[in-house]
Amino acid sequence: MIPDPAGSLTVVGIGPGRSDWCLPDVADRIASATDLVGYTRYLNLVTVETDARRHRFGNRVEADRAALALDLAADGGAVVVVSSGDPGIFAMASAVVEQLDRWPDRWQSVRFEVLPGISAAQALASRVGAPLGHDFCVISLSDVLKPWEIIERRLDAAAGADFVVALYNPASRHRPWQFGRAVERLAAHRLPGTPVVLGRDVGRPDEHVEVLTLDRLADADIDMRTVIVVGSSTTRILVGRPLGARVYTPRWYGDPEDQSPTVPSNHATA
Ligand code: SAH
Repeated sequence: MIPDPAGSLTVVGIGPGRSDWCLPDVADRIASATDLVGYTRYLNLVTVETDARRHRFGNRVEADRAALALDLAADGGAVVVVSSGDPGIFAMASAVVEQLDRWPDRWQSVRFEVLPGISAAQALASRVGAPLGHDFCVISLSDVLKPWEIIERRLDAAAGADFVVALYNPASRHRPWQFGRAVERLAAHRLPGTPVVLGRDVGRPDEHVEVLTLDRLADADIDMRTVIVVGSSTTRILVGRPLGARVYTPRWYGDPEDQSPTVPSNHATA
């Protein structure tokens, strides 16, 4: 028999950083929480007024953080686990479900919910137009939780299939060489002039957004606060529009006048 609910655990995404990019139901849930659990930097971004206790963690103890949050909820708390962006994308929602999967008999009484948020790639895309306007995929370059070989295989497959590719967790002090290798893999499938959009601290006071081409990406200044969108063979930069909408990926593939879509001729094959 499933026991009566004790408390609740909600994993929320607060969006990339601006308070008005945080959905109202997320703000409400934070306002009425008894406990907020999360990475220190993300808890510091929470601007919603709340009396909740804050449980701050470093960014490499997700399993402990998830288990603590579930324990607090089992004790009757209204617990909110805070992620940046969307909580289901390289964030805490999986970390919590992993714990539920690992310990099927624990935390049966806890009501569990995930509330979505705007992810970094979506926020960046909106700043420049519509680079994610056609099929795209999202790849984390962090090899902390998966082997580097898998990352290279996915980069090759995604670029080889002509997806627009959004790169998260591009580099850190502990991962100095991986970004250069990733750019090499993408460049094996794309022409040097392929549009690239780079955003640091999107939606935060120090926001920096840059449009460049793939041949300049290896030298770009990137870090863990940067997200990158590498175009497909059809992604275009509008010349003479320095501000606002200036990069897009068309919804069509091949020649829009032609009835049968074809593979564009500027798709480099590795
Ligand atoms: N759940 C988050 C992603 C967490 S992984 C989301 O959906 O956005 C952390 C990575 O996200 C960072 O290394 C960076 O690549 C990206 N990121 C998150 N917020 C960002 C922001 N405001 N500006 C630029 N990149 C961001």
